[in-house]
Amino acid sequence: MEGAITNVCYNMLDRNVNNGLGDRVAFYWEGNDPEDHAQITYRELLCEVCKFSNVLKKKGLKKGDSVAIYMPMIFEIIIAMLACARLGIIHSIVFGGYSEEALAERLKGGKCHLLIVGDGVWRGTKLLNLKNIADGAMAICEKQGHNVTSCVVVRHLTPAEEDIVPGGCTDYDEEEIHCVIAKRPYKKLGIHWTEGRDTWWHDEMSSVSDECEPEWMDAEDPLFILYTSGSTGKPKGVLHTQGGYMLFAATTFKYAFDYHLNDIYWCTADVGWITGHTYVCYGPLAYGATSVIFEGVPFYPDPGRFWAIIDKYKVSKFYTAPTAIRSLMKHGDEHVKRYNRESLKVLGTVGEPINPEAWLWYHKVVGNGKCAIVDTFWQTETGGHTLTPLPGATPCKPGSATFPFFGIVATLLTEDGKVIEGEGEGYLVFKQPWPGIMRTVYGNHERFETTYFKKFFGYYCTGDGARRDKDGYLWVTGHIDDMLNVSGHLISTAEVESALIEHSSVAENAVVARPHPIKGECLHCFVTLKDGKTFNSKVIEELKLQVRKKIGALATPDFLQEAPGLPKTRSGKIMRRVLRKIAVGDRNLGDVSTMADESVVDLLFKLRPNDL
Ligand code: ATP
Repeated sequence: MEGAITNVCYNMLDRNVNNGLGDRVAFYWEGNDPEDHAQITYRELLCEVCKFSNVLKKKGLKKGDSVAIYMPMIFEIIIAMLACARLGIIHSIVFGGYSEEALAERLKGGKCHLLIVGDGVWRGTKLLNLKNIADGAMAICEKQGHNVTSCVVVRHLTPAEEDIVPGGCTDYDEEEIHCVIAKRPYKKLGIHWTEGRDTWWHDEMSSVSDECEPEWMDAEDPLFILYTSGSTGKPKGVLHTQGGYMLFAATTFKYAFDYHLNDIYWCTADVGWITGHTYVCYGPLAYGATSVIFEGVPFYPDPGRFWAIIDKYKVSKFYTAPTAIRSLMKHGDEHVKRYNRESLKVLGTVGEPINPEAWLWYHKVVGNGKCAIVDTFWQTETGGHTLTPLPGATPCKPGSATFPFFGIVATLLTEDGKVIEGEGEGYLVFKQPWPGIMRTVYGNHERFETTYFKKFFGYYCTGDGARRDKDGYLWVTGHIDDMLNVSGHLISTAEVESALIEHSSVAENAVVARPHPIKGECLHCFVTLKDGKTFNSKVIEELKLQVRKKIGALATPDFLQEAPGLPKTRSGKIMRRVLRKIAVGDRNLGDVSTMADESVVDLLFKLRPNDL
């Protein structure tokens, strides 16, 4: 659509307001604490977005500049991103859980001189002082010659401005004080303030007009940069553009969730991930949808929180990740059954292969056996769903993302690039471009070409493996690097993991390849047991037997080790490349900047079984 002009924000807001949806709720906000909630209509959202666009203009930002956003799940994160879109400013959202180093890297990489932050956030019982982390990131940038000249701070938890000493800092203490925002006690945050650089969002918003003309953009102008989650290596700054991305976000949203205007839709992803960009913000808003956004975590105050929220807002379309489903499953059915969940119609999943066990639990227990399950396979790079069932129309098989979405031509290739017709397993590639395909790796077009187009000329290479069964269904097996070759047989780790999780004591597990003197490679399995279960020789034998039974003797694991936790990215994905290093006792782990909890690595090294 090069040469066509549009404005994404206009399409999300003005168009819906002009079409009579102004008073419709765009978002219900559910805070970390079940007592905290709010809502915003399309008209109110448009007004706030125009105001913040004027703030950005006042700060001298214009079309083509870039802005970083580091915030909790509050309305302001959506307002900030849409204000950028309104002015043609490229937004680069950094998940509000990343460390100061990771944020600094993204500030520099995105050439961002303005940072929008929330002061802090509660995640369950954990308080994160985002502003202090942002201060650390800005200091790192300064040392490295990149200046962040302006930082706009959203007051989300800070009780009163008197508590902030200009130029200095309030002492952090555990004192309970009254919070004017949430109207209930909060711990004192204690944020630092740098005069001349830091300003409050509400101060900036108090003196600007609530009208702002959108900047008309070429369909191929950049819309945003977003870094991948780093499961396979150093994160890539993926760049998406205006027209194609918007079209793809909107269309996939409508069809994969069978969206209708009376639906209440909830995607649990943080806006800091691509799922949040496409299916919390751009897709739903394009259709004037009413969505829920949630600040907290699935286990606070108890593991029934998701289902409580579903009942509270009468959610009909729900979208979450296999990692959340697996960990909720671990806590038993009773937390689900306390709620009626009658409003639910479609249940979606994304992020990792979902093992049939978890798929069936989602379908039978969460969906009471009456909801369509949509297992959507896609990537930061693809902008939206590339393989997905259409609910109610595609007969499903638990664990298969089924068939390609409209416009996606999926092909399987052998290692040497031969097309696999019919049944078989190989590299999942796409034969032609689609509207939402990324356009480049920001600032490194060569990496874009090498990563996605070099291995198989004429195809986009997803980097994932997949199997096509006799009925033509596609089963994504995960990153191709995670496959293993035992005595000449290609085994997918996903298959072994599915076999292991069927054992009644297993809560979660991850399988990697480990070099073997005779077989070439063998399996090393990291197993997290359910609460109260013990890892002993009996369990080990049962697990081995389970894999033999389900897959065959050649897949019998050589190593089974206890894993009190697994190394995961902050988006909840298992980092198998780190586990591969642990399996061979190599402490040189590579880029771990996106790992959620590094302490688990030491523990796994300690529990590592000896060599054969
Ligand atoms: P990086 O590219 O930095 O290594 P990443 O691959 O985790 O990180 P994302 O874009 O966050 O980057 O995730 C995309 C990947 O997630 C896919 O390539 C695939 O491996 C996995 N994935 C997503 N959805 C599914 C699904 N429904 N079934 C199987 N795998 C999925």
